[in-house]
Amino acid sequence: MLRPYRLERELDRAIAQWLDWLPRWDPATARRRLSPCVACPDWAAELGFEEVPHGALHALVTSLDAVITEHVRRSVALQPFLSDEAIDGLRDSLRREAVSWVSRQHEHIARALDAFVEPKVQHMAALLFADLGAGF
Ligand SMILES: [Zn+2]
Repeated sequence: MLRPYRLERELDRAIAQWLDWLPRWDPATARRRLSPCVACPDWAAELGFEEVPHGALHALVTSLDAVITEHVRRSVALQPFLSDEAIDGLRDSLRREAVSWVSRQHEHIARALDAFVEPKVQHMAALLFADLGAGF
C-alpha cells in the first residue's frame, strides 16, 4: 500500500484543479447523455452533492476516479500477485479515503459551488422561463 499522504496530496491536486475549472463550467455546453452516468450518482450520494449539476460534478468524479485508478495500478505494479478480491478491497478503501478527504473540504467546495455554479443554474432557469413566456 502506498503511503496515504501521497493519495491525499493527489486528491488535493484533483480538487484544486476542479475548483480552478469550476468558474468556466457552462451549463449551456452540457450535452444530453444517451445513457445515465454510472459513476456520479454514488459519488453524489456519498459526498452529499446530489443537488450539483451533473456536468459540474462529473469533472470532479472523473478526476477522483483517475487518482484512485492510478493508485490501484501502482499498488498492483508493486505487488503483482494481489488477488482480484484484494484489488477490489484496495479500490474500496481508496474510495472511502477519497470521500472522507473531499468531505473535509465540503464547506470550501460548497462555497465555490454557490459562487460559480448556482448563479449559472439560476440564469439558465431565467432564460428558460423567458422563452416560455415569449411563446404566449
Ligand atoms: Zn457523471
